[in-house]
Amino acid sequence: MLAGKTALVTGSTSGIGLGMARALAAEGANIVFNGFGDAAEIDKLQADVAREFQVKTAYHNADMSKPAEIEAMMKFAADKFGAVDVLVNNAGIQYVASVEEFPVEKWDAIIAINLTSAFHTTRLALPGMRAKNWGRIINLASVHGLVGSEQKSAYVAAKHGLLGLTKVTALETATTGVTANAICPGWVLTPLVQKQVDARAAKDGLSNDDAKRALLADKQPSGEFVTPEELGAMAVFLCSDAARQVRGATWNMDGGWVAQ
Ligand code: NAD
Repeated sequence: MLAGKTALVTGSTSGIGLGMARALAAEGANIVFNGFGDAAEIDKLQADVAREFQVKTAYHNADMSKPAEIEAMMKFAADKFGAVDVLVNNAGIQYVASVEEFPVEKWDAIIAINLTSAFHTTRLALPGMRAKNWGRIINLASVHGLVGSEQKSAYVAAKHGLLGLTKVTALETATTGVTANAICPGWVLTPLVQKQVDARAAKDGLSNDDAKRALLADKQPSGEFVTPEELGAMAVFLCSDAARQVRGATWNMDGGWVAQ
């Protein structure tokens, strides 16, 4: 479905972003990876995806908190593959503390990486998408774009902001072949969430498995984690022709979290 197209997925060296990249590659898209990690592991990941799905892959190490590096990454993608047809704004970090104890530099980093980076990639990708009259912008928000949780002020603020950016982008492209939508996952067991499992285990003296069950029991009625593969399948649908009138949507995949 996406043969000859290029997908750039920010934060795709791990977790959900990697699931997105693999799902889009399986549909034939060339992939521009981004994110941090061990250089040899990233080389292997790129080579594995290229071989498994018979696509081209590239990698740019832009730090999503740095606008100049984001600009360099977008130029790199255009130079390498001609254009970015599918943009997945996925890079994100978490930090947990009460508002009055929240470190100012953590607030700034979360807003920069989880929200502002998507503004930069979107503004830089849109001219090419408009020129082709086809594009898909998929913002990895969260249930925390729709509801709040204690201790997550910066994350919740950034994700609510990302839904706002998604809606405005969708309106500004509404008469074109470019769509912008957001996916709002509940708990997904990635390194970002494993840190919170570890913190829960330490706080309540629980085993790893019991801490996972406790986290899920708090918020996610299904009692099961969402998987990166399931989220990848939703991204693939959003890239399909059938989804061309899905615009400015905020789709939760959350085991029932926000139905409560
Ligand atoms: P993860 O920690 O597994 O992956 C995050 C990715 O972002 C990694 O590739 C990392 O290298 C990259 N990254 C971090 N800081 C970066 C920076 N400054 N510049 C470039 N890349 C950077 O996390 P994940 O759980 O896969 O999260 C991916 C996205 O999904 C995030 O936006 C997160 O908020 C969102 N999300 C996650 C969950 C969940 O339960 N895991 C739920 C809802 C939303």
